[in-house]
Amino acid sequence: MKIQEFFKQFPDEQSCKVHFKAKRDKQGVVCKRCQGQDHYWLSTRDQYQCKVCKFRTTLRSGTLLHQSQLPYYYWYFGMMMLTSTKKSFSALEIQRQLGHLYYEPIWYMLHKIRHSMGKRDDNYLLGNEVELDEGFFEIVPNKEMRDKIVIELENNDGKYKRGKGSQKQATVLVMAESITVEPTKKYRHKPNKKVRYIKMKLLKDLSKETTNAQVKQVIDTKASATTDGANNYNDLASNLTDHKAVVIQDKKETSKILPWVHIAISNAKRLLLDVHHSIGEEYLQSYLDEFCYKFNRKYFNSVFDRMVTNSVSYKWNVNV
Ligand SMILES: [Zn+2]
Repeated sequence: MKIQEFFKQFPDEQSCKVHFKAKRDKQGVVCKRCQGQDHYWLSTRDQYQCKVCKFRTTLRSGTLLHQSQLPYYYWYFGMMMLTSTKKSFSALEIQRQLGHLYYEPIWYMLHKIRHSMGKRDDNYLLGNEVELDEGFFEIVPNKEMRDKIVIELENNDGKYKRGKGSQKQATVLVMAESITVEPTKKYRHKPNKKVRYIKMKLLKDLSKETTNAQVKQVIDTKASATTDGANNYNDLASNLTDHKAVVIQDKKETSKILPWVHIAISNAKRLLLDVHHSIGEEYLQSYLDEFCYKFNRKYFNSVFDRMVTNSVSYKWNVNV
């Protein structure tokens, strides 16, 4: 959705709420007490009432907006900002655009949206031919250090001072489902592989056990993998149909053998570091989730609409 269309379709709180209810009606409401599916709508309270046992369910209950005090409009605006462009936006920027007094609830809302993007993508496995490699992302190791930087950002009018805080690197396993294609004359300079979907998962270490456990969760056993010759990929063949490990002598070769993981890594790094500057270790995954969600849907229509559907069907069973 173009930003202009968003403002036309959702000018206020009421238009967002009506849209959200229509989405929820379409998916159906299930009574928590008796599992009944027929409800009355109590419009003055924004609640559903079960026709059988009279149990009430709020419009937000059990969705991504569960227990949130923020207006629907904020959520819609946040989902639009996170899906409508290739860019990412800081919570500070979105807070400023919304004119909200406090940073914290906006920051938390955006993380919930990103978390739901990750959960959505977790429903799919990568298959066919998969490239794997690690990316190293700069993070801020602990909360104390992060708080210090947030205060500095606020004192400094939101501008980041380089060289502040001690940063460290997080290891991320990056996987891209890419199929080999015949190079055409026109696109000679492009990789001879076509990318479909990607995944990025934070690893606690680079052991082959950790790598294997992660691969098992997100890659179809029928897939074949291509990696470099690093030790952590030694056991991949025990989970996958085929594993080709290529010892890369010359760095230039990487862009031919593992083109898409490297394009994804450098795009993600540029995007995240430009916008968010200092990312806490425990939040890196959710920024990666946002990046992958958008990457995986770059040829899809109406990503915003899909995101709203996702927010309604989101099951509130994980604390974020
Ligand atoms: Zn009921």
